[in-house]
Amino acid sequence: MHIDIDKDVCIGAGQCALTAPDVFTQDDDGYSALLPGHEDGGGSPLVREAARACPVSAITVSETVS
Ligand code: SF4
Repeated sequence: MHIDIDKDVCIGAGQCALTAPDVFTQDDDGYSALLPGHEDGGGSPLVREAARACPVSAITVSETVS
């Protein structure tokens, strides 16, 4: 799983960090960031929910082909 956060689009609403706190956090400016070591989402189903929860659709989740 690959997670992409478009920081140009992110408005720092924090929904992603609320929805999937194991994967997303907020940086010092309040924008979404991935927790170190969780760049692939850790397979958490909450990642897709977080992407849906983002009010500006700044999160893109894609499957990586292994
Ligand atoms: S929910 Fe969307 S807008 Fe809010 S912090 Fe996360 S990525 Fe940014």
